[in-house]
Order: sequence, then C-alpha cells, then structure tokens
Amino acid sequence: MNTHTPPAILLIYTGGTIGMIENPVTGALESFNFHHLLSLVPELRRFNYRIDTYSFDPPIDSSDMEPSHWARLVHIIQESYDRYDGFVILHGTDTMAYTASALSFMLENLSKPVILTGSQVPIGMLRTDGKENLITAIEIAASRNAEGYPMVPEVCIYFERALMRGNRTTKISSEKFNAFKSYNYPSLAHSGIDIKFVPDRIRRSNGMPLKPHYLFDTNVVVLTLFPGIQQRLIASVFHTPGLKAIVMKTFGSGNAPQKQWLIDLIREAVEAGVVVVNITQCQSGSVEMDRYETGRQLLEAGVVGGYDSTPECALTKLMFLLGHQLPYEEVCRLMNTDLAGEITK
Ligand code: ASP
Repeated sequence: MNTHTPPAILLIYTGGTIGMIENPVTGALESFNFHHLLSLVPELRRFNYRIDTYSFDPPIDSSDMEPSHWARLVHIIQESYDRYDGFVILHGTDTMAYTASALSFMLENLSKPVILTGSQVPIGMLRTDGKENLITAIEIAASRNAEGYPMVPEVCIYFERALMRGNRTTKISSEKFNAFKSYNYPSLAHSGIDIKFVPDRIRRSNGMPLKPHYLFDTNVVVLTLFPGIQQRLIASVFHTPGLKAIVMKTFGSGNAPQKQWLIDLIREAVEAGVVVVNITQCQSGSVEMDRYETGRQLLEAGVVGGYDSTPECALTKLMFLLGHQLPYEEVCRLMNTDLAGEITK
C-alpha cells in the first residue's frame, strides 16, 4: 500500500439538517444545495486530501430515505471504489442508523471506510455541530494504519466525538448533540485532541473484492409488545397479505405475555413461512428466550432470536436477506449469523 500519496475522499451529500437553511416565510428547515454547504466549511481546503463531491439532487430529508436510495449509495461507492481511499456520507440523523445498517450488509467484503455523519444544527448556524462532525469524519475516512491500509474498513457513524459501528447504532436524542449511541458494542474511536482508534474493536478487511448487493424486500413489520395488547389488532398485522417477516420487540430478555392466542398466531405465521425475530425493547442487552417460561413459549412456537441486534439492524437485515429470496431456513440461519459485526454471539 502507498502511504505517501495524499488520501482521496468522496464526500456524498444526501441531505439532512447539516445542509438545511430556514425558510424565511414558514421558519421550517429546508434542504439546500451542496455548494452552499461547502462554502460554509472553507476549512475543508486546508486538508491535504483530494476531496471530490457527489450530491443527491434534490437533497432529501432522511425521513424520505428508501431502499432505492441505499441502492443508489451502494452504486456510487461501487462505481468509484478504486479511485478513493474512503467515503463520507452526509445524511439526516433521523434514519441514519437504518442506512448505516443497510449499507453494512450491502457492501460485502468492504475494505475501505464508509463514514456517515450529519448534524443537529445546520452548518450555517453559529452553534453548529456539523463542522466538527464533517471534518473529523473526513479525517477518519482518510486515516491509515502503519502498513498504509485504511484504519476503519467498516460502515460507521461518526457523531459528537464518537465513531460507532453503523449497524450497532441508534438515534437516542432529537435535541442533544450527542444524538447516537451504540449500546451493545463499544465505540471504535474517540476524538479529542487526537483521534484515538481502538484497533481490537475494528473489523479487519478479508481481502476479498467488494461485492455490492442491491436487493431488498420490504414486506416486513416491526411489532412492539405492550401490556394490554389486543388480539384483533395483532391478528390483523399477522394476517397482512404478503407479509414475510416480523421484528417483534419483546420485554426484557425476550419475553411476551402468556396468551395462547399470541402463541397460536406466531405458530401459524411460522408454519406459513413468515420469519418472526425476537429482539428486546430494552436499549441494551440481548434476547435469551430460554431464560423464562414467557420466552421459552416463543422459542417453541418457532421464533428466531435476534441476539443484541438494534431494531434498525434487525429490520434492514431481514429486508436484505428476504430480498435475495433465500429459503425460510436460510433466512433464519443467517439471522443467527454475524454477517457484519451486527450481533454478539
Ligand atoms: N429531519 C432531519 C433528517 O433526518 C433531521 C436531521 O438531519 O438531523 O433529515
């Protein structure tokens, strides 16, 4: 690897608060073009890197993100993969964790950094958090180890001084600068005076060529259990025509109310080939269905354990696996396999 040529980074702008400005009439934040955003960060010129840019036109609020946008991002990365050392994606914070999770599966054999970031306050405002997030994300994407290889060959989110594995991350605050957290896996790096990487926590490249994936199936739903949940409402979800998978957010270590109708609905769905995955509603920790009777009944009904997966990750992983039209047993097996560092086994 050449350690002497200056790093080349592709900066991809999808939209989000970081590039928004206030509509003078309504006061609402609206997406603005990339040139405007770049003109507000003259510091970028001080990098000794080649920084090329690509912008969604128009930029989008991340609430409008769809699997087709994820495919577009993968296409951009694949198409320019050999020309850049790393990629930084500017993205709205609202669905950033979904995009990061999806990309971690779509970019198989990734050997270069793909760092998502954004901000809580637009980059044109005095108290913006966007500048530090953007500048450090670029620095991380350009970082190489002693052998000249990318320091972080992973899809990550960098936000408010922490570099987190993308498929482990959840948005936790709509107002604090510290807007993301990775509860079940420690940060890969922290930035202070220096950027301190923790190499033992970072995935290694397997040396294989990048294998991009584009297929998704969105016939999935997230179902949160709660005390007082009603049979007729849940039955309508389970009986949705074309439904292929359910992410069930259960209590504690994977427990559900002991109601025969719920077990019957699950068993019937599983027999019809619907994948039912159990993740916990708790922010941290893992599902262990054999710990309590209330969990064991789910296991016996054919529910698949989602380990310590975030909801964003379980959902996008299912969409990804189902998109590849794998048989039911294979989807279940892969949900129990760590594909991109997303679960602790
Ligand atoms: N609504 C914005 C978005 O996700 C919020 C943000 O960027 O922080 O696009």
